[in-house]
Amino acid sequence: MKEIVVISGKGGTGKTSITASFAILGGKNIVVADCDVDAADMHLLLQPDWNFSEDFFSGVAAEIDQDKCIKCGKCADVCRFNAIPIVEKKYVVNDLNCEGCGFCFHVCPRDAISMIEQNVGKWFISNTKAENHMVHAALKIGADNSGKLVAKVKKEAKQIAVSEEKAFIIVDGSPGIGCPVVSSLSGADYAILVTEPSVSGIHDLKRVYELVKKFKIPAACIINKADINTDVTAQIKAFLDEENIIHLVDLPYDETFTKAMTAGKTIIEFGESEMKKLVENSWRKIKELLTDKQKRSSPS
Ligand code: SF4
Ligand code: SF4
Repeated sequence: MKEIVVISGKGGTGKTSITASFAILGGKNIVVADCDVDAADMHLLLQPDWNFSEDFFSGVAAEIDQDKCIKCGKCADVCRFNAIPIVEKKYVVNDLNCEGCGFCFHVCPRDAISMIEQNVGKWFISNTKAENHMVHAALKIGADNSGKLVAKVKKEAKQIAVSEEKAFIIVDGSPGIGCPVVSSLSGADYAILVTEPSVSGIHDLKRVYELVKKFKIPAACIINKADINTDVTAQIKAFLDEENIIHLVDLPYDETFTKAMTAGKTIIEFGESEMKKLVENSWRKIKELLTDKQKRSSPS
């Protein structure tokens, strides 16, 4: 079983549409993991049945027992995050501001404060319209710890892939270069970098590749909308050469892609098109790269 992570370093590159297309092409042979837990949207294209769900708990926040509280205000005085305001003459904890440091818990003279584990979201196992399993999640508004939720999604996807002897896990990686994308990359066998020829596109590609290099994961790149700025596309290709990253394909700007998305479909399901052939060829090449070590680039 091989794990392929699709990342972009920034939003709006077409990463999720391309990953969903690979999920359709992989069919029963793969497990999908949507690790973009802060703004999950793969379900819009893969139409999961939300078969199983479970709450996800992570981190702690203070809670005040009003029956024990004598309103001395010591907790509010020590809180550096202004998380204990007075509301209707009572000291209460604002969950969104509480960092869970526990200082208030230690200074309370009446043991009125407890540190409670937080329900920060849900994770799901679904069956998709591509007849594969998809593990996905949704973080609550304002909740943090998305890196831990990503790790949970990946762990569950891996368990399914191993127990059902699937060939691949396709991971829709988190955007950016923070904790969630670090979790997305951890343990991956191959990284597919999706970029676009814009000043921010090449900048974010270089930043996210620094992370990929740290993990020593071989990588290949898809340049989406490659024809909208040929100068920057040439700069991206020079960077790929320099770093020994395999250039998988140039995808042209094509409104069919957007029309398919608007219809809730991937490009693979939206009739015959040049774009469909290019994405199919890319998936075929990725499978070859994962089975032919000679063709794999490996960052030093
Ligand atoms: S320190 Fe304890 S007793 Fe004092 S206001 Fe806070 S919760 Fe109430
Ligand atoms: S746990 Fe820390 S951040 Fe939260 S309310 Fe208490 S002192 Fe403030």
